[in-house]
Amino acid sequence: MKIGVDVGGTKCLGVAVDTDGVVVAVDRRPTPHGTEELTATVCGLARALAEQTGFDEATFGVGLPGSITRHGVLTSSPHLPGVTNFDAGAAFSSDLGRPVAVTNDATCAVLAEWHLGAGRGVDNVVMITMGTGIGGGVIADGMLLLGANGYAGEFGHMMIDPNGPSCPCGQRGCWERYASGSAVALEAKRLAADGMLEAVVAQAGSIEAITSELVVAAAARGDADAVKVLDHFAYWMAAGLANLTNAFDPACFVLGGGLSEAAPVFEPMLRQHVAAAVYASNLRPQPEIRFAELGERAGAIGAALYGATR
Ligand SMILES: [Zn+2]
Repeated sequence: MKIGVDVGGTKCLGVAVDTDGVVVAVDRRPTPHGTEELTATVCGLARALAEQTGFDEATFGVGLPGSITRHGVLTSSPHLPGVTNFDAGAAFSSDLGRPVAVTNDATCAVLAEWHLGAGRGVDNVVMITMGTGIGGGVIADGMLLLGANGYAGEFGHMMIDPNGPSCPCGQRGCWERYASGSAVALEAKRLAADGMLEAVVAQAGSIEAITSELVVAAAARGDADAVKVLDHFAYWMAAGLANLTNAFDPACFVLGGGLSEAAPVFEPMLRQHVAAAVYASNLRPQPEIRFAELGERAGAIGAALYGATR
């Protein structure tokens, strides 16, 4: 059995995946603060799942949010306060007494969607996770791309505008400032300050309280101002997808993360903007745009698959 744990900012989700790729057990625990507590939680969860299905035959993988080296060291993680330069691979392996492969959570998600979800059967896939920020992963010519240091796929911090708004990463004009959940909320607040989005402001209670979820719901109801915000998002999402098409020439993009639930609203706008932005569109088919199929389990399933192949 392949055991995978996906560590999020608030919860750790664990799965046991059998040889056919079927999830046969699921468990979750709150994410604690601190490295020792995290090790105890992750390994406790993994051990419990493995014991249900046969500990001795189990393989183990863990996905963490943040920058993870090829050797399983978490060098930085904005979502796990108090956890930096943490040799997670060594700590988890030592606790479980078995090898544990550790990588980035978005890398896990692309692996899962490629093997078992929306990217099945495609050799060149780029996945984008659209949450508060943007994460990503790449399957290139049928292989998972990790990069020299293990940091491949940090698309959220591609610079889109050197004079753009500042990003928590320390740079300016990062893609995720334009095309993520927080970007949708930011653009909505900007328009609301100009007197637009009255219905959304009324629902939120104040301009500051506007969330991307409220904007998406309003756009789904046909609110013209909210649709304008999502068109702005779709334009910038397309700009990034066009850049990634130039870099990787993917056959398909898989879009996942919380914002993908708004796909019915922004998909037509996104396709239009991508068609307009892709270079050499007369020389190749448009990269397909698909939406992730595995939902919140993708990271844990991918961690299980990653652990089985390392
Ligand atoms: Zn950034």
